[in-house]
Amino acid sequence: MKNYDIIIVGAGASGVFLSYELTKRDNKAKVLMIDKGAPLEKRQCPIKKGAKSCLKCTPCHIMNGYGGAGTLSDGKYNITTQFGGDLHNYVGTQEALELMEYVDDVLCSMGGADAKLYSTASSELKTTALRNNLHLLQAKVRHLGTDRNVKILGRVFDYCSSKVDTMFYTTIQDVVKKDDGTFEITTDGGEVMSCKDLVLATGRSGSKWISSICDKMGIGQKRNRVDIGVRVELPAEVFKHITDDVYESKIVYKTDKYNDLVRTFCMNPYGEVVAENTNGIVTVNGHSYADPALRTENTNFALLVSNKFTEPFKDSNEYGESIARLSNMLGGGVLLQRFGDLIKGRRSSTRRMEKCFTRPTLQATPGDLSLVIPKRQLDNIIEMIYALDKIAPGTANEDTLLYGVEVKFYNSKVEVDENLETKVRGMYALGDGSGVTHSLSQASASGVHVGRLLAEKYK
Ligand SMILES: Cc1cc2nc3c(=O)[nH]c(=O)nc-3n(C[C@H](O)[C@H](O)[C@H](O)COP(=O)(O)OP(=O)(O)OC[C@H]3O[C@@H](n4cnc5c(N)ncnc54)[C@H](O)[C@@H]3O)c2cc1C
Repeated sequence: MKNYDIIIVGAGASGVFLSYELTKRDNKAKVLMIDKGAPLEKRQCPIKKGAKSCLKCTPCHIMNGYGGAGTLSDGKYNITTQFGGDLHNYVGTQEALELMEYVDDVLCSMGGADAKLYSTASSELKTTALRNNLHLLQAKVRHLGTDRNVKILGRVFDYCSSKVDTMFYTTIQDVVKKDDGTFEITTDGGEVMSCKDLVLATGRSGSKWISSICDKMGIGQKRNRVDIGVRVELPAEVFKHITDDVYESKIVYKTDKYNDLVRTFCMNPYGEVVAENTNGIVTVNGHSYADPALRTENTNFALLVSNKFTEPFKDSNEYGESIARLSNMLGGGVLLQRFGDLIKGRRSSTRRMEKCFTRPTLQATPGDLSLVIPKRQLDNIIEMIYALDKIAPGTANEDTLLYGVEVKFYNSKVEVDENLETKVRGMYALGDGSGVTHSLSQASASGVHVGRLLAEKYK
């Protein structure tokens, strides 16, 4: 049986930055990082190689493998505690911001320094938005772009390779705490390995798994939120005055009809819409490249409605999954509808799409989102589109494309302390898998935080 001091399950942003910090700091720990996905150089979504629609690969290249869900993403690192997770509630606001700044320094030292750092702080946009009842959240954002992001991850991997052993295409199935305080973990191939400290950094794709481990070990979890919405795609000119200024604008709006909060999320100027497969359910997302040669003519962003549930309902993710499954059932994957068709109460069809001036960047099935998204969320989204039209005229154009559904699943919040350690001593939960973070910056920062603690322990 292989024995390690530290085993990290999951090689996403949190696991990668944990491995970076352990490599950088003087310590004697013997470390292994395991991921169910592919190594960096093998990660490619079949859609990029010409597949017409999502092939439901297991595991999904978008979500799994070295760098995790962040690898083929747009690589937007938002330095803020206003969104992207609650790390500040565990480590303190100052520390959380410092950790995110540190992550940014590391990214810059590995080749990200050329990437522009945007800020919403002094933006005129904030005033214009406020005049229209739209609230712009504050953040600094470093946009790496998918291409640069992959190169940086390659350098981080090389940097850590002398210190951290890696295993890919390996899923951890079980965890047992032994009487001597060590952990034994079992892989899908039946191999058993042991370690003194176990870090669960399994991201969103590992949400069900981490929940089952917590249930088994008596670790508390809370789950009551899921965000549901659509991905909007429109000609880049419509948002150019905003994206040139702040790159990504996180705008929140309270609807008149229901008093619900709707927000823009993950804005990708000149980007592409992509399908993502989480545990067999296909939803929609987006990214963009830093290289101007790879740009498209469109900008895309999500419009999301937050849903928080109260007793007796506990499984908010199941609610989101049911809606996503409905769109998969009707569209065989992602559904696409022109805003004009939605407003006129008719489906989009191949014939109607042929006359559409906005060219979709994702091959999706033209259909009717009102058959999938509940009325309340759909009304909220439509109201927000009209609100955005006031600061970005053209948003409510009939050829604006809506892809559905976009679902932001939130992992159950695992009960952890300020060190992100569970009540099972020596077992840590960090990144998006712990429910503490929902973003690259904060997930990476959580990895650095635990990396420092463990480096000290094994000094
Ligand atoms: C298309 C897309 C675009 C995005 N764009 C942005 C963006 O621009 N900015 C931003 O801030 N955020 C973005 N996000 C979200 C961001 O990627 C995540 O917040 C971040 O990756 C979380 O890091 P993590 O380490 O917690 O988890 P992940 O990156 O999800 O990594 C978890 C890893 O654990 C592995 N794993 C899970 N279970 C097991 C198991 N049982 N055994 C072995 N391995 C396991 C998975 O294979 C995965 O590689 C995007 C996400 C997607 C999908």
